[in-house]
Parts: sequence; structure tokens; C-alpha cells
Amino acid sequence: MVSSPRKTYSSSFWLKIFVTLICLAIAGLEGWRDWSEREDEFVRIESEMKNLAKSLAQHAEDTFNLADAILVDMVDRIERQGSTQEVTAGMEAFFSERIQTLQALKVLTVYGEDGFVRSSSLPGHTSVNVKDQVFFQHHSMSSERKWFFGPIIRDPLGGDWVLTLSRRINRPDGTFGGVIQVSIPPRYFANFFGRIDLGAGGAIVMISTTDRRILSRYPYTDQAIGIARSQSSFSLDGSPYGSGSYVSPIDGVTRLAGYQRNHVYPVVLLTAVSEEEALANWAKEFKIRSAGVAVLVSIIGVLGWRLARELRRREQVEAELAVLATTDGLTGLANRRNFDHRLETEWLRACRDGTPLSLFLIDVDQFKSYNDIYGHQQGDECLRKVARVIADSVKRPSDFVARYGGEEIVVLLPDTDEAGAGMVAEKIRSQVEALAVHHEANPPSYTLTISIGSVTQNPAFDRSVTGPAELIHMADKALYRAKQGGRNRVAVAAKAA
Ligand code: GH3
Ligand code: MG
Ligand code: MG
Repeated sequence: MVSSPRKTYSSSFWLKIFVTLICLAIAGLEGWRDWSEREDEFVRIESEMKNLAKSLAQHAEDTFNLADAILVDMVDRIERQGSTQEVTAGMEAFFSERIQTLQALKVLTVYGEDGFVRSSSLPGHTSVNVKDQVFFQHHSMSSERKWFFGPIIRDPLGGDWVLTLSRRINRPDGTFGGVIQVSIPPRYFANFFGRIDLGAGGAIVMISTTDRRILSRYPYTDQAIGIARSQSSFSLDGSPYGSGSYVSPIDGVTRLAGYQRNHVYPVVLLTAVSEEEALANWAKEFKIRSAGVAVLVSIIGVLGWRLARELRRREQVEAELAVLATTDGLTGLANRRNFDHRLETEWLRACRDGTPLSLFLIDVDQFKSYNDIYGHQQGDECLRKVARVIADSVKRPSDFVARYGGEEIVVLLPDTDEAGAGMVAEKIRSQVEALAVHHEANPPSYTLTISIGSVTQNPAFDRSVTGPAELIHMADKALYRAKQGGRNRVAVAAKAA
């Protein structure tokens, strides 16, 4: 049974695999560490943003509460004194005095049931009518007494953007008697937000939860006010607070944000820093560390590869030496040491398999004379030819030809019986003769010939009768007989008892 040879990899191959794995492990671990630090940085920033949004939402609530407290006070006053034109008209001075110290509040205005201005902290707008404004329609149609937080509008008494908080005024009989409304400029919040340092790319936005429009923003731009926040960025719905990253629809900057919804008023506060700025420190360290890791990995890679190359070179030298150590320099056949090892192996295999083992000892006839006549160099050339003919005459992969010593060549034929060995021996003899190398001192043919001593045994583990050494001895004796018998012939050793 012939088993297929298993592919073996050289040590330099394994060294390269090892170095590659080390480099990948270093780069992978560093990459993983950098990534998790980046994630930690995100979490830290988003937590900061959420806390800030929470306090700003509280500030907004306080501002609206202050405005509503004034509305409650005014509604109470007007309802007690009556909402007639005379009464409300006399309140203008009181109104302006009431709110002029409060930066958060811009204008306090009372509208009659017809929508016209009755009285305002900003006098001179009696022709203004707010009948079509959402806050006015809400109060005229609903008897509810609660405050109403209107959508952001252009101030009816000016034209700037304003947030409005309003309450209904009832007549003594409970019917609709008008609306009192206070307007809060988005700039007030923007100025307040501006006191907080969120870096050059930071932003703070107040958004209405009813219509998702931007109510105020820092950095303040008039164009940003009133636009609906994009649905594509992270959702502010659901949870009352949260965090995430988004691309600003106003300036296109990617930001990390935290938000907090106010539980009293329909606003949500969103605080954000520019992602690039927030991660600048991390990015700087990442670059330095990556460069360090790249250098380290390169050094390991280059050294590893050089080592692998050196290892490969040595392995090649070793392989060449191993071939040299087992090969005969003159003929290219296996040498004596190689043969001794092979004979032992084949002997044991034949024992195990119970197969016969044949061996030839071949000697060139009258070779001393050949050297003497044609010279040693010619003799060497002749020996090479004979070796090639013998090597070419055996066909099985397990057949083995070696130079035994001097001009003697040995052939090992595993799993070959006497009849088979006889045929091979005769073939070798005749093919050497067929070379027709002239040899003056080798009568009667006067060509170069060989004599072969052949032996065939069925090896046994018990070496007390025959062992590998006896096999050679028997072949040698047969060879002697071949010489005695006239040379250029095959002599077969008698079977061992
Ligand atoms: P016989 O027919 O009885 O074998 O006669 P022979 O002259 O060949 O005798 P023997 O086998 O003892 O001869 C050995 C000779 O082979 C001695 C040497 O001149 C020659 N010889 C051995 N090794 C080499 C070699 O490597 N090169 C050359 N050119 N000649 C060798
Ligand atoms: Mg000899
Ligand atoms: Mg000889």
C-alpha cells in the first residue's frame, strides 16, 4: 500500500505565519482599544450634553413660569376691574413698568374679543388685529383657563420672531372677553445659551414638541428660527431625554447631542458639540498611537521576514547537505551509508509484509586493467556510464541502487522473488555489455562487462539465521562464483537453510 506523502511546511513558513499573526494581533488590539476609547468619549460627551440640556430645560421652564405668573396676575386684575376699553387702556403704563425689568419678556398685550389691541406695554398698535392667530383662536373657542403656548410667530406688534404665552380673559358672565398675551424673544434664550462654552462648533437649540419647529438657537441666525427640524436626524419623540449624533440642517455640522424635554411646557432643549471638536484630543492621540503601532508592526514584520529568509536559506543548505551526505559524488547514486540504512528499512518491511527481498552485488570485470590501459579519468567516466545503465534498468519506485565501494554497485529489489531478480540481473548484465565499451584486457568479448552476484531471501525477524549482513555476504560469495565462472555473468546464491 502506497500512502500519499503529506505536505510539510518549512520552519520559515511557520515563522512568517507567526509574525503575521503577531502583527495582526498588535494592530487588532490597538484598533479595538482606540475604538472603545472613542465609544467611551462619546458616552462621556453625550452624558455631559444631557445634563446641560436638563438644566437649560429647567431654565426655560422657569422663564415661562415667570411669564405665566404675570399673565395670571393680569387676568385676575382685569377680570376684577372689568375688561372694558377704559379699564384696559389705563393699564399700558402699568404693563410696561411690569415687564421692562424683565429681559425675558418683550411685550405684554391685551386683545379684545374682536382681536384688536386694547392695551399694550408697547403703545401705538391699536389697529393691529390678531383674530387669525392660533393663540387667539384657541382662547376664543375654548373656555379652558390654562395658559396656551403658541407656535412661534412674527410679532404682531413688530415683526420679529416671538414665542407667545397667553391666557383667556373672561367676562363676569363667563363669556370670552379677550386674550392677554406675553411675547418672549428667541434672542433672549440665544443670549442666555451663548454664555455656555461649547466650543466653536457647539450649538444649543430649543425646539417645539408640538410642531417640531426651532424656537431659539445659539449661534443665533434669524433664518434658523421657525424651520421644522429634520426627521432624518435622531428622534426626539418617545423618551423625555436622550442623546445621539446628527447632522445640523442649518450649518451641516455633525454634532453629538443630548436633549431634555420639559414636562410642563411643550419644548425640548438640545445641546450639542461638534463631533470633530469633541473628538479632537482622541483623534490626536489616535494618530500618534497608530503611527507608533505602524512603526512597531513594521519593525516586527521586517525583522520576522529577514529571520524567515535566513531560516529558509539555512534549511536549503541543510537540505543540500543532507542530499550530499547520502549521495555518491562520482556516480550520483546513493552512497554506502544511505544503502545501509535502506537495507535495514527494507529488511524490516519485508519481515512485516512477508515478502521476498533480492539484492545484487555488481562488480566491473577487469577494471583495474581498464584503469591501467585507458587511465583513471576514462575509468571514472566508464563507471558513470555503468551506474546510469544500472539505475535505468530498475523501474519500481522501491528499487534502490547504490555505490557500494570502488567499482562495486549494489541493487536492492524489495518484494522481488528469485525469478524476477534473475530477469532484472540478466537485463542489467546485457545492457552494460550492450554499451560496447572497448576493453582490451577483458577477453573473450573485449568489451566492458560486469559480473553479478544475486541473492533472494524471505527475511525473518529472528536474525540468528540470516540478517542484512548475511544477505550481502551471500551476494558477495555468488559474485565470487560469477568471477570464477568466467565473468560477464549472473550467479545466484544458494537459498539459506
Ligand atoms: P575483477 O574482474 O576480478 O573484478 O578484476 P578487477 O581488476 O576489476 O579487480 P577489482 O574488482 O579488485 O578491481 C578494483 C579496481 O577498480 C581497483 C581500481 O583500479 C578500480 N577502481 C575502484 N574505484 C575506482 C574509481 O572510483 N575510479 C576508477 N577509475 N577506478 C576505480
Ligand atoms: Mg571490485
Ligand atoms: Mg572488478
